[in-house]
Amino acid sequence: MLEEKALAAERAIEEALAAPGEACVTSSFQAECMALIHMLTARRPEIPVLFLDTGYHFAETYAYRDRMAAQLGLNLVNLLPRLTVPEQEGQFGILHQTDPGRCCEMRKVEPLFSGLEAYDIWFTGLRRDQSPTRAHLKVSDTFRLPSGKEMLKVSPLADWTSADVWAYLKRAGIPVLPLYERGYTSIGCEPCTALPFDPDNPRSGRWGGQKLECGIHIQAR
Ligand code: SF4
Repeated sequence: MLEEKALAAERAIEEALAAPGEACVTSSFQAECMALIHMLTARRPEIPVLFLDTGYHFAETYAYRDRMAAQLGLNLVNLLPRLTVPEQEGQFGILHQTDPGRCCEMRKVEPLFSGLEAYDIWFTGLRRDQSPTRAHLKVSDTFRLPSGKEMLKVSPLADWTSADVWAYLKRAGIPVLPLYERGYTSIGCEPCTALPFDPDNPRSGRWGGQKLECGIHIQAR
């Protein structure tokens, strides 16, 4: 089964890479991102790997990002928000406590959408069973940036389960972010990531269950 899914994902990757334009992949360095990066870099070693460097990630995430970027020779691109964490907290207070929607907008959505302007094909490690909000995810879709620019958004692992991802990584000999060992099932910024409370929703530990998405995968209107 994994073999078939891996072949289908590789086909989706190859088809998308054959399309005209510049390709990139976004990565939070969670397990599915690493499986996708492994497949992508086998075909295009220099593909830019975009990381949303919010300044609020776990120290373990930064250490793992740097270790894997060096080990796999990744073309890592850190996307930074307009304001540093001290600047934002000085001007607006601790937004992740008072207004997480605005904090995600400033530290994730704006930097990503502005970073994506340079590309035409956007690979993501999204999977349908990560959250009810992702249940209808398509492998290949059109995504429109706030500027109006349209790009191809490709999620080759859309139908993979978490077990598929782990089996793939084990076979490929790729270590995972050590935070998984502590029981986390979805890992983002440290202040907004807790252990999941709903066993059927791996993202239920994000934002204290108050929201499930930061906004980067929501189509601009
Ligand atoms: S996940 Fe939390 S800390 Fe990170 S950008 Fe969103 S609100 Fe801010």
